[in-house]
Amino acid sequence: MPVFDSRSFKNHEQVVFCADEATGLKAIIAVHSTALGPATGGTRFWDYAAAHRKVAPIDIAEQRGEQDAVYDVLRLSRGMSYKNAMAGLRLGGGKSVIIGNPRELGSTELMRAFGRQVNRLSGTYYAAEDVGTSPAMLASAAEATDFVCGLEGVDFGTGDPSPHTALGVFTGVQASVKHRLGKDTLTGVKVAVQGVGNVGRTLVKHLLDAGAVVSITDIVDANIEATKALGDVEVVSLDGIHAEDVDVFAPCALGGGLNPNTIPEIKASIIAGAANNLLETEGVDDEALRKRGILYAPDYVINAGGIISVESEVYREQLDEDARHAKVLRIGETLSKIFTASDKEGRPTGIIANEMAEDIIRAANEAKLATAAE
Ligand code: NAD
Repeated sequence: MPVFDSRSFKNHEQVVFCADEATGLKAIIAVHSTALGPATGGTRFWDYAAAHRKVAPIDIAEQRGEQDAVYDVLRLSRGMSYKNAMAGLRLGGGKSVIIGNPRELGSTELMRAFGRQVNRLSGTYYAAEDVGTSPAMLASAAEATDFVCGLEGVDFGTGDPSPHTALGVFTGVQASVKHRLGKDTLTGVKVAVQGVGNVGRTLVKHLLDAGAVVSITDIVDANIEATKALGDVEVVSLDGIHAEDVDVFAPCALGGGLNPNTIPEIKASIIAGAANNLLETEGVDDEALRKRGILYAPDYVINAGGIISVESEVYREQLDEDARHAKVLRIGETLSKIFTASDKEGRPTGIIANEMAEDIIRAANEAKLATAAE
């Protein structure tokens, strides 16, 4: 299994493969960087071999699935380093993946076994909820370790991060509208929100309160109905939302939506949404957007509200809601800096954000080395 040779390996500090025979646990924990603090990032529980089983014999499918898991954990942990750095947090970047179908494998015992593995890293890595893991599953892991965050009903627990993520995206939409359209308010600004789940629905509430004209879509009818109850929204087609004639396209469903097929069809002049990994190819798709005059708010910068709210839990600090919100609202200022640099240098916002994050991490590493040498 290539790790150092993997195209997503970028000087990760530590990659741990762990297993537990009794529960069937197979997991990988990747610590990309601890320059800024404990590596913090979610635990993804995913059946990586599922797609391969449709086209390959079972043993080959499992091998390919494991390769995908390695690729995913390396890429996502680096992404967390960048996200945490750009959010100004005292957190490094890490991520973990548990391999398998959570519905079949995700027992309390397995999550406890995972918690024991996290505990062995002695606080180098903090786990949190991600795709395929629930608050209850993380609570099971937390029975075996203190190094889990985003918990509810515990001392310093910060609970559901989604409202903070939605607030961060909202402030990011405001900063983007100010930069591209020169408007100080969202009154009359047309926004298309793709996916009205936990984040998207709260974002819609903020947008309606600010006087925006909102259109939505979702694959789940119940989520559409719940969003319609918030106010006057237009429901549009699933396939055409990215091509709606609006000012802002806010993807809040899945990643990968910005690619050579969709980009030529986009009519919005701003893309600002919560979904992770929106660009199919970094540096290529954001450059295509820039050339078309579409302002792209880098996903990991605009959707950092959730991790911002979690930082106090890692440091066991009591932070009130207002202080938490004030930190989230800084996302707008960070985006404005990225947009200004992108305009000045004629380079895509995604690349500018990556470089800014790398500079912050490099400086923190140098400061650590200098302190160690004293
Ligand atoms: P969620 O699962 O609650 O909501 C996603 C919504 O998208 C669901 O309503 C789902 O039905 C819908 N959806 C899925 N496929 C769709 C499609 N093809 N077209 C339209 N709708 C579709 O997830 P969430 O917590 O709201 O997160 C939304 C996105 O934001 C995800 O990409 C997530 O990774 C990212 N994100 C979330 C947080 C957070 O705090 N929850 C933080 C950072 C990033």
